[in-house]
Amino acid sequence: MQTKPPTAAQTAAILVAAGRGTRAGGDIPKQWQMLAGQPVLAHTIAAFRAAGIDRIVVVIHPDDRPRAEGFDGVTLVHGGATRDASVRNALEALSADPPDCVLIHDGARPLVSRAIISRVIDALGQESGAAPALPVSDALWRGAGGLVAGTQDRTGLWRAQTPQGFRFADILAAHRAHRAPAADDVEVARAAGLRVAIVEGAEDNIKLTFPADFARAEAILKDRHMTIRIGNGYDVHAFTEGDHVWLCGVKVPHHKALLGHSDADVGMHALTDAIYGALALGDIGRHFPPSDPQWKGAASHIFLAHAIALAAEKGWRLGNCDVTLVCERPKIGPHAGAMQAELARIMGVSPDLVSVKATTSERLGFTGREEGIAALATACMVKI
Ligand code: MG
Repeated sequence: MQTKPPTAAQTAAILVAAGRGTRAGGDIPKQWQMLAGQPVLAHTIAAFRAAGIDRIVVVIHPDDRPRAEGFDGVTLVHGGATRDASVRNALEALSADPPDCVLIHDGARPLVSRAIISRVIDALGQESGAAPALPVSDALWRGAGGLVAGTQDRTGLWRAQTPQGFRFADILAAHRAHRAPAADDVEVARAAGLRVAIVEGAEDNIKLTFPADFARAEAILKDRHMTIRIGNGYDVHAFTEGDHVWLCGVKVPHHKALLGHSDADVGMHALTDAIYGALALGDIGRHFPPSDPQWKGAASHIFLAHAIALAAEKGWRLGNCDVTLVCERPKIGPHAGAMQAELARIMGVSPDLVSVKATTSERLGFTGREEGIAALATACMVKI
């Protein structure tokens, strides 16, 4: 019994990828099929490297050696006739310079997280073996001839995942002594009398088996990598006769007004377009066509609230936004705090996520000649 957990540096990984399974479709084994632009096995190797494990043995079928030679810094070992034999070949290859611990993992589980790998390694401080699993939550039936023949108590049942981790010397001895076929390395370990701790697995740690699993894995990867999106917006409105302008939801006295459909709130329009832009959802004109009379004169807060609500529906919230108004007059400074508060109120966010600032254009161009006001906005959207 150990008391101090091993470190990633004292741990090696064996990735079992010698199977010929083509249930996933295609004419090459699933671990070599492409997932988000790379072979499945490349993702699996990267997951272990990200967890700080540099010593990686990949067990391959001899036919796959040309594909596997593209992987840098891994040791290739040929598999045997059964999964047990494949794992044993890899353990023997490591035994010349034995690590403290070894994690044995299905090559076709590319989405394993750092957290799961750490949990397995940490548990090896207490037990000879540790493996991730999830409790069975669905009801279980026995079936016969297409009919439900009975129900099965699920109490104490777990769905096993990998990596299955072991003290190296213990699992090597267990594999050398094992004679019968085994479902996994936990079975081999238990046959040798080793205690194996259950640690928390994850629903995302799927074993790619069927074509639908690849679509699910692509979606999970996309989600992991796309947690932030940014968009920009730009708008201009010309001055006309009047005695006030609406800017970022605040009525500002001025000797002119802004011309346009609705209230011509140039700042709020730019911000709304930035949010639509971050989510590739077009612009205000697409959602509120100016040709449609119902939006003539509509208050701009309707547009901004719509963009935020649509984003929330798709799983995004505002990370922060920044609006810049470009004009010589009116002076924005005295109103900037009120604008920040009003935009935050409309979007239902804290004011510290909202910036409103202004600049002149040094009397140059249409804004410099006070023919109109321009606004730029950036919005950062984050996954809920
Ligand atoms: Mg506009």
